[in-house]
Amino acid sequence: MTTSPDVRPASAPLTDPVGTFVPSTVPTHWYNLAADLPEPAPPALHPGTREPLGPQDLAPLFPMALIAQEVSTERYVEIPQTVREMYALWRPSPLVRALRLERALGTPAKIYYKYEGVSPAGSHKPNTAVAQAYYNAVEGITKLTTETGAGQWGASLSMACALVGIECEVWQVRASYDAKPYRRMQMETYGGICHPSPSDLTEAGRAMLAADPDTTGSLGMAISEAVEVAAQDPKAHYALGSVLNHVLLHQSVIGIEALEQLDAIGETADVVFGCAGGGSNLGGLSFPFIGRNLRDGTTTRVVACEPAACPSLTQGEYRYDFGDVAGLTPLLKMHTLGKDFVPPPIHAGGLRYHGMAPMVSHALELGLLEAIAVEQDVAFAAGLEFARAEGIIPAPESTHAVAGAIAHARAATTDQTIVIGLSGNGVLDLPAYHDFL
Ligand SMILES: *Cc1c(COP(=O)(O)O)cnc(C)c1O
Repeated sequence: MTTSPDVRPASAPLTDPVGTFVPSTVPTHWYNLAADLPEPAPPALHPGTREPLGPQDLAPLFPMALIAQEVSTERYVEIPQTVREMYALWRPSPLVRALRLERALGTPAKIYYKYEGVSPAGSHKPNTAVAQAYYNAVEGITKLTTETGAGQWGASLSMACALVGIECEVWQVRASYDAKPYRRMQMETYGGICHPSPSDLTEAGRAMLAADPDTTGSLGMAISEAVEVAAQDPKAHYALGSVLNHVLLHQSVIGIEALEQLDAIGETADVVFGCAGGGSNLGGLSFPFIGRNLRDGTTTRVVACEPAACPSLTQGEYRYDFGDVAGLTPLLKMHTLGKDFVPPPIHAGGLRYHGMAPMVSHALELGLLEAIAVEQDVAFAAGLEFARAEGIIPAPESTHAVAGAIAHARAATTDQTIVIGLSGNGVLDLPAYHDFL
């Protein structure tokens, strides 16, 4: 356990929050790893022709600005001023030295965490939600549809749509819809509409219910429903909360800030741990580090931490697969457990996806990052240890990164710098902690 509090006069200099450094401005540009890759990632393919996708194939679902970002190889993409102003509601996010956790572990390593739980929705997801809502609104779209697992993405997109003044309709995986009512209330508070998936509102949903009336649902099923509705309405588009290149691009604000924050205190990261569901917070945090490795020869290691119950990176095949169950989406080259894989209803709902971001998969293939699988009990034990040392209750997803980092720090025999991507807080996931206890 942590040592007892010191008795010091109130005028003593603060020593504990050292390392908490916040740059004075929100980043002006996103970073695109595609510019620095030694070989390009395989392109997305049209589900019918199996030819590389053209912009017109994506136009029914996404605004042109996002389609351009999806295939961009520009290193830096300017962030629109309106998006920067929305970012400023919670960005830059803090980078904090976890001194109490270091002491509790008795490690010679220095541990920092980059905390995305300070956003209004409680996770990193608003980083892309506000950008996507913005680009759709300026192109005249009045409604976004989407899927959500634990509800973090549905809540984030509902918030973003409220900020730019458009509607939001969400299909939530049945297991989470039933188990996590607070996220739905959060969506509704922002003005979003939330349906359990599969639902009887879509052809895809009705077919899935006919096949298995008691299904707990999956992200792949919910995507089919949200895509179907957007494709039929010219004023509606679809928004994806992870996996795609433009999502990882927007999330790069996490890593850009973290690099700047570490530079400002003269630190270099030796190893970065992030949890991986669809790969967006991991990619967002780590790609700016990987880019620097590639350009400048630095040697920061990146470790993706995924749940043992849904191990796409460590157990999946690297091949073209659909993003959804019905096979409506483009084919993506990725590590996949197969589009029909229905993961057990683990607490880390945001990590229950059969595939992985093509950019993260490609980076793994190129040896630019590593992956480990973490058992749910080990993840929650790490979450408790973190909460009791640092005060923040990590989201169940984030506990996987914490577990990876704690195991590494415990085994460390040398002074080194560890960075944890703390993708969200777990205050709406307390029943999951309660079950574990
Ligand atoms: C959704 C979510 C994840 C998983 O999504 P990625 O795209 O892999 O980042 C991780 N952590 C939190 C807190 C989430 O809400």
